[in-house]
Amino acid sequence: MRWDNLGDSPAALFGTDVVSRTIDTPEFRGITFHEVRARSILNRVPGASRMPFEWTVNPYRGCSHACVYCFARKTHSYLDLDTGLDFDSQIVVKVNAPDLLRRELTARRWRGDHIAMGTNVDCYQRAEGRYALMPGILTALRDHANPFSVLTKGTLILRDLELLRQAAEVTDVGISVSVGFLDHALWRTVEPGTPAPSRRLDVVRTLTAHGITCGVLMAPVIPFLGDAPDQLRATVRAIAEAGAASVTPLVLHLRPGAREWFMTWLGRHHPHLVRRYERMYAGGSYAPTWYQRRITRQVHELAAEYGVGPYRPGAHRGIAPPESPAGPAGPTQLTLL
Ligand code: SF4
Repeated sequence: MRWDNLGDSPAALFGTDVVSRTIDTPEFRGITFHEVRARSILNRVPGASRMPFEWTVNPYRGCSHACVYCFARKTHSYLDLDTGLDFDSQIVVKVNAPDLLRRELTARRWRGDHIAMGTNVDCYQRAEGRYALMPGILTALRDHANPFSVLTKGTLILRDLELLRQAAEVTDVGISVSVGFLDHALWRTVEPGTPAPSRRLDVVRTLTAHGITCGVLMAPVIPFLGDAPDQLRATVRAIAEAGAASVTPLVLHLRPGAREWFMTWLGRHHPHLVRRYERMYAGGSYAPTWYQRRITRQVHELAAEYGVGPYRPGAHRGIAPPESPAGPAGPTQLTLL
């Protein structure tokens, strides 16, 4: 069990026990999986006081969903891999994650705290279709009645619907699906490995129909490409129609590692916006506060209009949204996607 703030070292992950596989099927073409046996699986979040969770489980590193803006890109550089194409195609798989988690959940010093998954990279990315680590992880959490949450863009989560339902009978389970916009052309270029936004909303619809509370993290709202009033309205309306319990807007942030990759993409696909982005993100990784507040207010107003509850701390943990959708208009500072 990891009780400090250290990440896995490259030496630990890429030692002699690593098995690297390239699978020659259309689904996995161009992707290399590095199968490792992790030494620990419960990770304590650095600076957890700013997060709504303290512990995470991450069975994968790198993500074939390949979102251009992904903030986790930076973490691939710790493995001596690049934060661009390598992040999308060199996927580390912790093949012993389920067994390790089951063992760590029984440790005497483990207090049964909430565990967040999908907050670094997506645990329902395509690799999960091959390695199927999540059923074992969910089974361990269910057996220990350990509260947890999952954030994903992957429709594969529906494979585990029955396990999620069983877990929700014995503990707090929070599911959030990430849908920042509906625009098809934008999706194809900026989130090229993900299921379409409409298919993600089908996940919300299905989970809700089976009695599993599901919120939507409306992330990222992309300045000048996905933030027009009619775009925000269409997205919130679709989220409401899918039956989401809550909607949490989050404006694009561009940390080092993601910033360079995103700006290269922007220059290729929307060169006329490069100067505007340089000005908007001149102060660092985040859009200006006034902009974040504006987007948050707009989304909350639309959410109220369409009858979907706004974000509030704890909502992702399966706590019912407030009856009155009159939440604060301040920017949401979560760092997840
Ligand atoms: S934003 Fe999420 S789904 Fe997209 S590449 Fe990053 S971890 Fe994967």
